[in-house]
Amino acid sequence: MSTAARYPFSAIVGMADLKLALLVNAVSPAVGGVLVRGEKGTAKSTVVRALASLLPDVEVVAGCRFSCDPAAPDPDCPDGPHPGAAAHQAQTRPTRLVELPVGASEDRLAGSLDIERALTEGVTAFEPGLLAAAHRGVLYVDEVNLLHDHLVDLLLDAAAMGTSHVEREGVSVRHAARFLLVGTMNPEEGELRPQLLDRFGLTVEVAATREPAERAEVVRRRLAFDADPAGFAAAYADEEARLAAHIRAARRRLPRVVLTDAALRQITAVCAAFDVDGLRADLVTARAAMALAAWRDHPEVTSDDVRDAARLALPHRRRRDPFDAPGLDEDRLDEALEQAGADDPSDPGDGPEGPDGPDGPDGPGGGGGGGPAPQPGDPDAAPPAASGPERPQTTPEDTPQEGGPGGSGETAADPGETYRPRLLSVPGLGSGAPGRRSRAETPSGRTSGARLPRGRIGALHLPATLRAAAPRQRDRGRSTGGLVLARSDLREAVREGREGNLVLFCVDASGSMAARQRMRAVKGAVLSLLLDAYQRRDKVGLVTFRGREAEVALPPTSSVEAGARRLRELRTGGRTPLAAGLTRSAELLRVERLRDPRRRPLLVVVTDGRATHGGTDAVLRAGARIRSTGVETVVVDCEDGPVRLGGAARLAAVTGGSAVRLAELGADALSGLVRHARRAA
Ligand SMILES: [Zn+2]
Repeated sequence: MSTAARYPFSAIVGMADLKLALLVNAVSPAVGGVLVRGEKGTAKSTVVRALASLLPDVEVVAGCRFSCDPAAPDPDCPDGPHPGAAAHQAQTRPTRLVELPVGASEDRLAGSLDIERALTEGVTAFEPGLLAAAHRGVLYVDEVNLLHDHLVDLLLDAAAMGTSHVEREGVSVRHAARFLLVGTMNPEEGELRPQLLDRFGLTVEVAATREPAERAEVVRRRLAFDADPAGFAAAYADEEARLAAHIRAARRRLPRVVLTDAALRQITAVCAAFDVDGLRADLVTARAAMALAAWRDHPEVTSDDVRDAARLALPHRRRRDPFDAPGLDEDRLDEALEQAGADDPSDPGDGPEGPDGPDGPDGPGGGGGGGPAPQPGDPDAAPPAASGPERPQTTPEDTPQEGGPGGSGETAADPGETYRPRLLSVPGLGSGAPGRRSRAETPSGRTSGARLPRGRIGALHLPATLRAAAPRQRDRGRSTGGLVLARSDLREAVREGREGNLVLFCVDASGSMAARQRMRAVKGAVLSLLLDAYQRRDKVGLVTFRGREAEVALPPTSSVEAGARRLRELRTGGRTPLAAGLTRSAELLRVERLRDPRRRPLLVVVTDGRATHGGTDAVLRAGARIRSTGVETVVVDCEDGPVRLGGAARLAAVTGGSAVRLAELGADALSGLVRHARRAA
């Protein structure tokens, strides 16, 4: 434990919702943690770290590495059993804040079982991981959206079961792992898997305040803290002690808080109004509302408690797909609360709150007291009026216009319906980040071979180990009994799973594609592929070309939201500089290869293959260049109409890739064709 002074919770300016969400969890860990969404540099981590020092101390069995509670020791505890749990065994320590680094190994998170010692010495040696350290404390994951899939799975299992289970080749260890999960993420850098999203009880959006006076106060305090951390902390010590006492008092009050039928009706009505899945949302909202009531010293849950709880518990549960804007429509929330009716007359409402309500220990400015935080510049909010989908403004096909920005021939069609596209993948065996697209050597997956371990042994390959040991048994003096194993016998399993790729879309946005229905279909197709890429853990990028040039509409990112947004805004019209589009794509892929060499790219060119600017020779040269870099290319052929020129198929041949017709891109379209063929036969 470091003795360096932490920034005090009560010195934090603004961020009322985040503080409230954390305090709710401090009062009732059953609420299930907090996910903090927001841009970088908003001091999210400072707030989370500050919370930990407010939490009450925990009593643990002395010497137990798994933080057993002396009153109820974990029966499975690897350091146990702890018989009697006598008073002299107990020891009090501060609640821990354990940070899980995004790049942590599986062993670091779940703990490591020394399989070599188990096999060669016959002892179970278990080194506890972060899940054990976080038991009865806070597990903090900064940039939780960038966490590797296998870590997410471990985390989900532990969070769901309250235990961590490590098993290797039949040797297994199980221990309790219950913790307050707090994650932060910057949505611009990629979304969270829905299962993980659902694990967080509450979500909060944070943004740096735009209020100059408040910003000045933030800076002033930070400077004061940096100049003299201990002195700064001392100045807030009384306030901190008061907050900590308030948390303890609220915990004691919690069991006596009454959830009236009227309040429960409001909760279920609100959850129904926002169309959330399952009953988890209702439960979390109820728990949060009760914790809020305890915090505010309300004997019964009031409709204000319900409102605040819903505001924190529902935003991430009502989202139907990753393209929806975050946040909760507060007018609709109020409407639902009113309809459920009937605020009963005994509702204490905004009556006297505790001595320090959640918004109490704020600095000047007060952080807006949980009002509807405006989403700063959300570009999803409203489509630009000039490109409304209902405008009867089509561009006749192949009209050669020089559609500069704002040119008269532009349209921005809405995407058509999305569907599940067939799997496009990179051939061969990669070694990129785990995902769900192309075949690759991965830390999990099915076993495809065995090898001598490189460094610390991963998964043991038992048959290969036995084969290696068998011929040496006589030399090692084995007469009867068990096998005599040596370190040099051990063989490691080589596992094959799937990796995520970089899927770069190169989309023709020229006039020849601009007929409304066609562009709708094209956007629908690219959106489907984007959604698919999100589920397969790919990075995506978008290059578009029209008029005279190509542009990078979306640099490679894991954020499918950003991709969907750019696609929706994509305007069409003008000539077709196909060669420029290909060249720009090749350049982008070259840079990405330097940046992230193990992630294999897949280039998806969406075009009808007509080049009306730059010439056919340039297209052939650009295609050959792509082929020479070894990038796998798929051309989605958008050509239709009575006269087909076959440009897309030719392009696919030049790049060494394959072509697929737009109409055959859907996974069901293929099986449909097969069915059709069978029936015809
Ligand atoms: Zn124990």
